[in-house]
Amino acid sequence: MTIAIPYGRQDISQDDIDEVVAVLRSDFLTQGPVVPSFENSVAQFCGAKYAVAVNSATSALHIACLALGVGEGDIVWTTPITFVASANCALYCGAEIDFIDIDPFTYNLNASLLADKLAEAEKIGQLPKVLIPVHLCGQSCDMAKIYELSLKYGFKIIEDASHAIGAKYKGEPIGSGRYSDITVFSFHPVKIITTGEGGMATTNSESLAKRMQLFRSHGIRALSDKAHHLNNEIWNYEQIELGFNYRMTDLQAALGLSQMDRLNYFVECRNNIASRYDEALVDLPLITPWQHQDSNSSYHLYPIRIKAPFGEKNQREIYDELRRSGIGVNLHYIPVYRQPFYASRGFFAGYCPEAENYYHQAISLPIFPALSHEDQDYVIDAVKKATVI
Ligand SMILES: *Cc1c(COP(=O)(O)O)cnc(C)c1O
Repeated sequence: MTIAIPYGRQDISQDDIDEVVAVLRSDFLTQGPVVPSFENSVAQFCGAKYAVAVNSATSALHIACLALGVGEGDIVWTTPITFVASANCALYCGAEIDFIDIDPFTYNLNASLLADKLAEAEKIGQLPKVLIPVHLCGQSCDMAKIYELSLKYGFKIIEDASHAIGAKYKGEPIGSGRYSDITVFSFHPVKIITTGEGGMATTNSESLAKRMQLFRSHGIRALSDKAHHLNNEIWNYEQIELGFNYRMTDLQAALGLSQMDRLNYFVECRNNIASRYDEALVDLPLITPWQHQDSNSSYHLYPIRIKAPFGEKNQREIYDELRRSGIGVNLHYIPVYRQPFYASRGFFAGYCPEAENYYHQAISLPIFPALSHEDQDYVIDAVKKATVI
């Protein structure tokens, strides 16, 4: 059977289409006025001073690391239960990566284990330069504790909030920068809002914003007309770093800016779908996502955990059965260090036991704003059928 109900899907309105078409008819397809408007909209929404738009969250993570000076000889730490991009960004910069196991309830990086690992790392002079906590599914990490540890041990923080635009922590929007140096968002079509491909980094530091702007566009900055008039040479831009072409186009920004109008609505829809699952699945032999009281999740994902302690069907059997019913269930995520590329760097199965437990039990159910009650009920029935013996 083909997949009839995906786990995630974009929501595109006629307004979104009209805004993109308006840019197509305008003078600038890229480097025009819409990218800064979209940046302002996200910065304002998050309560951050600066926002830097790029062509993906992967690019945003890369230039965030570069702006914070990550390079050879440095160590970056993140969680194993994330998309590979959260770890790859450190390797792009020539740094080493290491992983901290997850919390058994939130599935986010475990802040107590972080504290232990930092104490050990200090003894052997191997403290991380940057930590990348990931707000899995849209639920915030324990940022107050992580921030406190960053002050004690002197590391910087990049929040990978690819799942979490529109989410809140202690009543404040993710991306405000209260507990971190830089926050990164993804606008891939399965995420909360989309630009096709796209990402954004928010910060309250002018110097970090300027460094990221430099790295997203070749390391080049524009010069005023009066600069450099030696020997009558024309000298209107200069490259001062080795940067990249990571720019977002105005076409993408127009879609993103238009989607921002519905961001709160999207998050509300996702919360409603999560509540319906919570209620409908309560008596089944599985665990629904637990929510910390400090968190208002954006519910990018809704992973159930299959425990099967008494010979019930296991994760793999249920996953296959749901797929056969046309439901695009998925797994978020295989622990990053289990990937062949990482295994070749010396990591091994079992490195983070709690992450492995989660990996062997989790199944992401469909959740996206346009998921109808009818389709959700079909998913719920299929889960009920699949979990009973
Ligand atoms: C999607 C995702 C990314 C990468 O986002 P892109 O915009 O596709 O580059 C990074 N980290 C996490 C946690 C993600 O879910």
